[in-house]
Formats: sequence, structure tokens, C-alpha cells
Amino acid sequence: MDHGDSQPHVAICPSSGMGHLMPFLRLASMVASCDYKVTFIAMRPTVSAAESNQISGFFSTHPHIDSLDFHVLPSDTSTATTDDPFYLHFQAISRSAHLLGHQLTTLSPPLSAVFSDLLVANGIGKILSDLWIPNYIVITTSARFYSLMAYLPHLITSETITNFSSDDDGEVEIPGIAPVPRHCIPPPFFNPNHLFTQVVASNCRSLPEAKGIILNTFDFFEPEAIGAHQNGLVLSDLPPVFPIGPLRPFELNKVQHLPWLDDQPAQSVVYVCFGSRTAMTRDQIKELGHGLESSGYRFLWVIKTSKVDREDNEELRGLLGDGFFERTCNVGVVVKEWVNQEEILAHPATGGFINHCGWNSVMEAARHGMPVLAWPQHGDQKVNALVVEKAGLGLLESQWGWAGERLVKGQEIAEKIKELMTNNELKNSARKIKEEARKAWEKDGSSTRTLMRITDMIKKK
Ligand code: UDP
Ligand code: UDP
Repeated sequence: MDHGDSQPHVAICPSSGMGHLMPFLRLASMVASCDYKVTFIAMRPTVSAAESNQISGFFSTHPHIDSLDFHVLPSDTSTATTDDPFYLHFQAISRSAHLLGHQLTTLSPPLSAVFSDLLVANGIGKILSDLWIPNYIVITTSARFYSLMAYLPHLITSETITNFSSDDDGEVEIPGIAPVPRHCIPPPFFNPNHLFTQVVASNCRSLPEAKGIILNTFDFFEPEAIGAHQNGLVLSDLPPVFPIGPLRPFELNKVQHLPWLDDQPAQSVVYVCFGSRTAMTRDQIKELGHGLESSGYRFLWVIKTSKVDREDNEELRGLLGDGFFERTCNVGVVVKEWVNQEEILAHPATGGFINHCGWNSVMEAARHGMPVLAWPQHGDQKVNALVVEKAGLGLLESQWGWAGERLVKGQEIAEKIKELMTNNELKNSARKIKEEARKAWEKDGSSTRTLMRITDMIKKK
């Protein structure tokens, strides 16, 4: 089909890490299916091998989407307050943003809009406003955590956040939404000089300049936080929000075969995965192994032993202790490789999900009505876990703390696994969420209508 210059053209600009890449690939695929021309900006190099594999897999099934390779300048580690390669990459992308401007002006037809990640929105936003291209900021976390981030500059300026001490059990008030318990706020937020805090706060200061905020959540799942933004309660100068979750998975050529899972009875398997990068301490991994074993349930356990997959060469046998594999070979499977999580969550044998509450995993669990045992570890994950618990998708044990804060013993984990797998009320409410997630994408569903509102706005630009 020849659309000439009349076809709207959207560029999709992610940041780094799988948790940020996945929703952008999904958006690219969804926008292209609305008969838009789509250019995907691929950050080079990527931090993890999983990211570059996913990008190549995506383009093999989406030849109609253009790819624009963007070469990111090296990170500045001289004054960094963290060694996290993903955080450093967010900063490096922002510092390189001026180089992207010229590349964007050479695209044809000229861009009608850009969808960019919040964590690089500041640098990208400045360039886009010089070029008169509307910028829609994409939020890859919950609407509730978005509220906290949007309010963070205010908490820093008013010194509210620095006044908390580390053992304080108070709450942080955010207009329009339920207060956030102090122990759920990411620890770096209490330090205004931490790189993560600076990256979030500086990007959030530029939120008012965006044309709209795209959220991967849906009305039924987060009515309070979405409503607060729709009514301008959190901050009056924020752009309108567009909740279009759960974002739909895209097609890949390679279908993963799961012969072991195929042989298990319905809803009998606990699926354990803590996302693409959250590495637990070695002791905690061992305790989780004890917990799975003594729960008596079947399990499929994806272990990541290092934050960046390229550095993951730990031997599992040594890590899990003598005899673990021999004792569990009839009930469990442990893998280090990348799995297709959506397929596992969709599989009839899977009955529960132990997860860190990275937001993509939460939305995937919601889509499949999969009960979650929420075990947040870092960053936004505790606030996301509160959302999971409130929505009725999962159980949360708030005493388990942040990663490395406390060693949660196997027996305690086994008890929670039993609760996860036998709680009928939870199963029913998770099923209801799946039904509502499906309805959100029906012809007249909330996410369908919202996506149409965005595409209409872009066409009328
Ligand atoms: N994922 C996957 N296979 C893996 C690990 C992760 O498909 O082995 C996917 C998962 O389905 C999700 C994304 O990677 O889409 C991870 O994002 P999330 O927000 O859940 O967590 P993060 O990795 O950012 O902590
Ligand atoms: N981290 C991780 N996975 C995540 C988020 C963070 O491995 O999904 C790491 C992060 O790199 C850092 C540590 O966990 O080294 C603690 O992260 P946090 O955000 O609490 O900040 P920090 O401890 O660096 O002040």
C-alpha cells in the first residue's frame, strides 16, 4: 500500500534493560497494526545480550517496521554514585540525545510523534520541542509508582524525603492517591545525589512539556491512580494520561518448546522468575531452593545469578548445594536461559507465579489471570507489589524486605507457596482480572478506546 506523506509516522524510543525494551517493542507492533509507519530506535550497544537478541527476533517478524540504530556515547562513570550498568546507560542515552536530532530529521515521511521512555525523556524532549515534534512519554511501571516519581521533585525540593530516617515507619503523602509506606520507597530516593534519583527527578521535571503520558495499565486494575491523574489531583500541570495496558505480546518466529511443562497436570506448577536482571544473593537463592523443595509443589525456576546476562556463568550445581537436582528431578526444572515468559504464564500447567513485580511481569500475570506471590527486590517493585495485592492478583509478605536486607528462610517461603497454590479466593480474583484485561481490549474496551484517542490526536497534529 502506498500511503505517501499522508501516513502518520511514529518513532519509538526506548531506554535500556529488558523491562524498558519489551513494552516499547509491544507498542511498536501495536502502533504499526493501526496502519501507522513506525521507526524503532535501537540503542547501540545494548547493555544485555537479551536486549540485542530480542531486537533481532522482533525485526525478523516485523519487516514492515524500520529500525534506526542510535550509537550511544560511553557512560560517564567518573562521578557516578552507582555502578549499575542500566542506570549508567539511562544517563548515557540522555547525554547522547543531541546526536539523535539530526537522524530524526532525515526520516521520511516527517515524524508525526515520538513515544519516548520517561528515563530519557528530558534529553529527547528538548530535541523534539526544537523540531516541533510532539513527545508522548511512556511509563513502564505502575500508575501508582508513576505518581510517586512525578511527585519526587516536589518531595526533594520540600526536603520531605530527606527528613525520613532509614528506620522510620511513616508514610509519604502524595495528593490523590493512598500514601506510600516509607519502606516501599526505593532506598535511593532518600538520597537526592544518587544517580537513580537524579535520573528520575530530572526527567520528571520535564513531564509537563510532553503531549501525553502512555501507561501500561488498565482502568480495572488501577482505578485510583489512573483516576487521580485523569482528575489532575497529583499535580495540576501534568499532561493527560492514556492507560493502554496490558500491552499485547508480539509474534516471534521461534516458538519455545516446553515438553516438561506439557507433561504436568493442570495448574500444578509454580513458575519462579525475578525478571531479566534481578540477581538475588547466593544465600537467598539457596533458601528459595529449600522453600520450593519443601513446599512439595512442582516448579519451573528461572535463575539469574548476575545483573547482566553476559556475565552470568555461575554453576548452578554448586550454588544450589549437593543433591538438589537429584532430589527434585521428578518435580522441578531449573533454567538459566532466557524463557518465553508469556508462553509459560499462558500454559495450562502453570498455577502460580513467584515474581519480583517488575511491571511487565505484573501486566503479563494480569493478562493470564495468574496468581502472584509478590517478592519485590528493588526500585519500583515494592510499590508495584502493593498494587498487585490491592487489585487481588497476589499475596505480599511485607516483612521480607528489600533484596539483601533479610535472609528469608526456606520454611517461610514454603508456607507462602502453599498459600499461593491453595488460595481459592485469590484464584477467583485473578481470573476476574484476566477477564477484565480481555475486556479492556474488546472493541469498546477502555484500552482500545484510549489507543484510538492517541492515534486520532496524532493524526490531527
Ligand atoms: N522475561 C522473559 N524471559 C526471562 C526473563 C524475563 O521473557 O527469562 C521478560 C518478562 O516477560 C518481562 C521482561 O522480560 O516482559 C522483564 O520485565 P519486568 O518489568 O518484569 O522486570 P525487569 O527485568 O525489568 O526487572
Ligand atoms: N538492581 C538489580 N536489579 C534491579 C534493580 C536494581 O540488580 O531490578 C541492583 C542495582 O544495580 C543496585 C542494587 O540492586 O546495585 C540496589 O539497587 P537500588 O536501586 O536499591 O540502589 P543502590 O543500592 O545502588 O543505591
